[in-house]
Amino acid sequence: MEFNTRLLHGGFGADRSTGATLAPIYQVSAFAQESAEKLEAVFNNRAPGFAYSRISNPTVASFETRMNALEKGIGAVACSSGMAAVTLSLLNILESGDEVIAGAGLFGGTIDLFGDLKAFGITTRFVEHVTADEIAEQITDRTKAVFAEIVGNPGLEIVDIRAVSQLCHEHGIPLILDSTTATPYLVRPFEYGADIVVHSTSKYINGGGNSISGVIIDSGKFKWDFDRYKGLAQYLKLGGLCYIAKLHSGIWRNFGACLAPVNAFMNSVGIETLGLRMQRCCENALALAEYFSEDGRVQPNYPALPDNPFYDLCQKQLSGKGGAILTIRAGSKERAFRLINALKLATNATNIGDVRTLVIHPASTIYAHSNEAQKLSAGVFEDTIRISVGIEDKEDLIADFIQAIEAM
Ligand SMILES: *Cc1c(COP(=O)(O)O)cnc(C)c1O
Repeated sequence: MEFNTRLLHGGFGADRSTGATLAPIYQVSAFAQESAEKLEAVFNNRAPGFAYSRISNPTVASFETRMNALEKGIGAVACSSGMAAVTLSLLNILESGDEVIAGAGLFGGTIDLFGDLKAFGITTRFVEHVTADEIAEQITDRTKAVFAEIVGNPGLEIVDIRAVSQLCHEHGIPLILDSTTATPYLVRPFEYGADIVVHSTSKYINGGGNSISGVIIDSGKFKWDFDRYKGLAQYLKLGGLCYIAKLHSGIWRNFGACLAPVNAFMNSVGIETLGLRMQRCCENALALAEYFSEDGRVQPNYPALPDNPFYDLCQKQLSGKGGAILTIRAGSKERAFRLINALKLATNATNIGDVRTLVIHPASTIYAHSNEAQKLSAGVFEDTIRISVGIEDKEDLIADFIQAIEAM
């Protein structure tokens, strides 16, 4: 199946018992079983079925199956938020004394999380750019994971997944990638060697800006060394499923960061138009970027522009599409504020992946508590405006920015 067909039919069929064309919302906490024996089996993962919605729920399971089909993984676990997915993807394999290598330009919440993990004896070594060379310098015998975002936001640096995963695998370390901004429309990271993928599905997967949620997907291909990843050893007999099985039976279930059925339903509705939305967002973003670069009054950063340092990687790995986010530099904070305030269609809000175009001044908001070095590695300058491009008509969007630039 091609991408758009897979969005509708991958891992999904009509509900056999009722014919419902969408997986209905099972808004219940518990599921009765006909016998004590059956509940025992279901409860202990020895038979298919549902017992309690923190552990499994048909609406949530349907969403997980669809995400797994999209990324071509071996299994998926949905979480209450993108941050829960990021956190649990790591805690599933880390112990006190371990080290993680991560990109310095990560999403702010993820950077903060690595700070929180210090209290549990987990140390993070940050690399300025997520390249095999920079990572190689930071690897020690305690390194247990490399964590990065495929397309950094708002810096928009692209990770060469093949090169980085090769290096990780030479050292027996899994590569965990946050693919939120790339989405499966731009890249399926497992095809390039990534081991675990996480998404904040609050963004492009949901698409309508109406539910907070996340997901962890396992490729099933990483060769775990059970002496180093001791916790996985008890799942050894499950082979490639050991990471996702441990996650589901362990830290994910016990943290309780499960996805609400109604939010899973909203995501399953949203996912069906991911291809159409992303195609439109990428076209709009490129049109805006080209307009800005010809006009010259603000400086765009967009990976699909030929003069961008990540242009070649964008062609090679993201099939030439630059994604739905671009940034512009307005010249000063004052000019950036004037531009934002003059916009009539683009909404000033802290989110990405909405169908509406959103803008934000990152330095005074998302990065207000970051130090200068952190801002620099995230590509955040005093005059940077981030644009999360929506699906409006591009003529209207360009006209809105033209009048705002003139007002600036
Ligand atoms: C939003 C976001 C997150 C966090 O997701 P929530 O759903 O807000 O918890 C993590 N990573 C990236 C890249 C994000 O954009």
